Amino acid sequence: MSEHYDVIVIGAGVTGLSSAWWLARDGRSVLVLDKGVVGAEASSRNGGGASHYQSPLFAEEQRLWPMMDDLLGYPTEHQRERVIISVNQREFDHYNYIADMCTAMGWPADKIDGDTARAMVPIAGDNCLGGIHLRFGGHANPQRTVQAYAWALQDLGGRVIQHCPVIGIETVGGQVSAVTTPRGRFTCGALVVAAGPQIAGLLAPLGIEVPLMAGRAEMIVTEPAPLMRLGGVDGNGLYGRQTMRGNLAFGGGPHEWIDTQPEGPRARPTTPLSRSLARRVAEMFPRAAHLNVIRSWAGIVESTPDGRPILDRLDNLVIATMSGVGFGLSPATGHAVRDLVVDGTCSFTDIAKLSLARFAGLAPDWRETAGWLPLAAA
Ligand SMILES: Cc1cc2nc3c(=O)[nH]c(=O)nc-3n(C[C@H](O)[C@H](O)[C@H](O)COP(=O)(O)OP(=O)(O)OC[C@H]3O[C@@H](n4cnc5c(N)ncnc54)[C@H](O)[C@@H]3O)c2cc1C
Repeated sequence: MSEHYDVIVIGAGVTGLSSAWWLARDGRSVLVLDKGVVGAEASSRNGGGASHYQSPLFAEEQRLWPMMDDLLGYPTEHQRERVIISVNQREFDHYNYIADMCTAMGWPADKIDGDTARAMVPIAGDNCLGGIHLRFGGHANPQRTVQAYAWALQDLGGRVIQHCPVIGIETVGGQVSAVTTPRGRFTCGALVVAAGPQIAGLLAPLGIEVPLMAGRAEMIVTEPAPLMRLGGVDGNGLYGRQTMRGNLAFGGGPHEWIDTQPEGPRARPTTPLSRSLARRVAEMFPRAAHLNVIRSWAGIVESTPDGRPILDRLDNLVIATMSGVGFGLSPATGHAVRDLVVDGTCSFTDIAKLSLARFAGLAPDWRETAGWLPLAAA
């Protein structure tokens, strides 16, 4: 006997969990399967930023984040607004351009001078030329957020099975009918594939080609600094946040392309990249340069050729791969996935530009052309 669910979701990252939670809120029976534990991949390892003003999902992201603690019933540590500071003229000019662009898009951003920036970010130094204050966006705690989604889903009767890799997807008449796992077969009315970088491998046997490349990104965490008014600070090629305890958790490029599935040591940080992050954090925050780095980790981010997510429905299958911006967008992504599964179309924004079909004419050597090659092959 197979257990049956209205919807099965592959992947217990923020995308899969938010989707499952939205579907459970709608009264659907939902099963989430993960090959590991909840949020163990990119979803708990990211910078927690939620300011993706260029996404069609952004307005919904902004509407939902301030409500998420109440809606989920568990804390995400969401905080509004961000500040971006510059330590050289090139960055200063670039951030001013971003401020103009955001304001023109209806997301107000103030240009601030060095003194105002130092008042907002007291650990910035004399090298800070100023920056911009985004009066939108924000950040949240990734670990808390994945846990909140999972608990909220279970509160609504949704089920999560960890350590349960999906090893096959069955179809009948072109529709997904079941998934197979080492713990048995589960049948479903619809399938959501939110398996991060593994999506391409899962869907290839169905003849669905999802163009993805995987990159390894890193983060470091310092000892606590005195709490700042706005915990979300970017600059110097870095993104990050101050935790509620005061620690500075920062990441940033360069990202390292990797060629296969992210297993084992590949998800570990490397000394040169961690050192580069630490050097740039100290440059950006000279008044916190004495703090020791106490933790570092790596995570794998998938990227499509144009860097945008794929959010699409093919018959009763929904594909959701978020291309490096999935944490912040997750409240809105789940809503969109719910709409795609239940209504066949997204109710709150036009997601045509996130379709899989936009890659129909993609050259097979797109990775080489883009120069997205693993180190050994570069
Ligand atoms: C260092 C770093 C910093 C980042 N910073 C930010 C940021 O500041 N803001 C932002 O918005 N985004 C950021 N991101 C990107 C963000 O973390 C991801 O876009 C987001 O977490 C993607 O979530 P997901 O649920 O789609 O995928 P994932 O978190 O990758 O989850 C996919 C899940 O699928 C499971 N899975 C895979 N294959 C199978 C299978 N066969 N069977 C069952 N389960 C399977 C995996 O175990 C995993 O749990 C960052 C990422 C990294 C690594």
